[in-house]
Amino acid sequence: MHDLDAGRAVLDRVLLHRRSSPIGRQCSETPCARCAAPHLGRVARAVAAGKPIELVLPAFPTKSPNPAKVLGIRPDMAEELALRFLAELCGDIEKIHPPGAKVIICSDGRVFEELIKVPDRDITAYQHGMRELVDKISPDFHQLFNLDDVCPGQSHDQMRAMIDDEFGEPFEEPRAELKADENGLAMYRGIVRFLVEDLWHESFPGSKSALQRDCRKRAYRVVARSRAWGRLLAARFPDAVRLSIHPQPCGSTAGRVTTSCPPPCHTRGGELIEIPGASPTARRSSAA
Ligand SMILES: [Zn+2]
Repeated sequence: MHDLDAGRAVLDRVLLHRRSSPIGRQCSETPCARCAAPHLGRVARAVAAGKPIELVLPAFPTKSPNPAKVLGIRPDMAEELALRFLAELCGDIEKIHPPGAKVIICSDGRVFEELIKVPDRDITAYQHGMRELVDKISPDFHQLFNLDDVCPGQSHDQMRAMIDDEFGEPFEEPRAELKADENGLAMYRGIVRFLVEDLWHESFPGSKSALQRDCRKRAYRVVARSRAWGRLLAARFPDAVRLSIHPQPCGSTAGRVTTSCPPPCHTRGGELIEIPGASPTARRSSAA
């Protein structure tokens, strides 16, 4: 099979799980060539080189800090299901391209710690749990990557400061861009909603309206930090195809905020598919 044909076949397989955004351009065909186009060059190059295809997935940051929403702070059945799904995807790619594929899971809870109000010790426990799960389920198909791998030996606050300094932008910068774009606005509202839901419970020490005001401000910081993390990942994994757990408009390409997503794991455009169970705030109903 020609490299481009094999690349298209791989992307068609990946795009089987694509979830379209209800906002913006819709796909007019299945599989959609427009959605595959931004990623075809990278995949075809990996095929031509006889290398595994790298798939970068920013997700699995941590459990929700709201005790009413989760079973605990460690990964549970939701993460296990998502990893099994991803392993199956890699196995199917191997049938098309024998060197196969590797999903680099970029667990990014550390990136957002103070913005999502989850303490670093809980994020560390979650990451240890993810390591155990990957070792059990899919060590050949999955690699874990997080901020600790970027800045070994530094404090967690130093790690976050590094992201802002080296890859960040003023927190005000995304504001105008988000407001000017229908997808951006939907994403912003989604982040605010998730920030509120992750903290609001019966014994919350304050009013819901004050919490909502605080979350509206924090949401811009979440977007800015997420974009910085995206730039770091793009620099670290230049040949990788970016996956997403969030719906995308047809043909979304890197360089724009295009996702409508929960706060700890929203990412920039150029991403592909929906991963069942990979939501950062897996609910009790999906964790049982
Ligand atoms: Zn499309």
